[in-house]
Amino acid sequence: MFNIILFGPPGSGKGTQSERLILKYGFKHLSTGDLLRSEIARQTPLGIEARNFMDKGHLVPDEVVIGMISSAVDNHPDAKGFLFDGFPRTEKQAEALDNLLKMKNTGIGVVLALDVSESELVKRLLNRGLTSGRSDDTNEEIISSRIAEYHKKTSAVADYYKQFDKVVYVKGEGSVDQIFDALCSEIDRRLS
Ligand code: ADP
Repeated sequence: MFNIILFGPPGSGKGTQSERLILKYGFKHLSTGDLLRSEIARQTPLGIEARNFMDKGHLVPDEVVIGMISSAVDNHPDAKGFLFDGFPRTEKQAEALDNLLKMKNTGIGVVLALDVSESELVKRLLNRGLTSGRSDDTNEEIISSRIAEYHKKTSAVADYYKQFDKVVYVKGEGSVDQIFDALCSEIDRRLS
């Protein structure tokens, strides 16, 4: 089993690249953002709770997200590998993920971190807001709050995995194809 974390700030292209990576490598895609939006759409208690945080651009509490990922992993016992997108977003989530994977005798193979400048992030998110139907993409204040959460809580996740020498930075600006090729070459190097 080979598991990947696709890491980077909001708007760095994790969703776009994940779609292509799962097609090429057959990973099971686990995006906490997508899972949370599906809970909201189904108006589950978890979704109703999560929505209050997401609408403000704040992170959803660790316990909620960790429980959700834990069942998602359990629901796919035959996966040949997981691609985690938007998770972990705090050090506590990273530790929980490591424990979860350890219990399944596996771990994280590599953390691919997309590097994108802040002005480009805001531009992309506002642009996405025109068509995505995501309310957290239409308001510049909420976008800033999401980027601030990233700096305050999520960038520590990269430091956490650096101690295990698992982090590789990939330039997240350029064409979608160029970025995809760069990600694939990092994955291929580790799979072979
Ligand atoms: P983006 O990375 O563009 O912000 P996501 O779809 O990954 O988009 O996340 C949208 C929102 O969902 C976040 O702003 C946050 O409120 C919530 N969220 C997603 N993943 C997590 C997580 N791992 N921990 C806490 N909150 C999360």
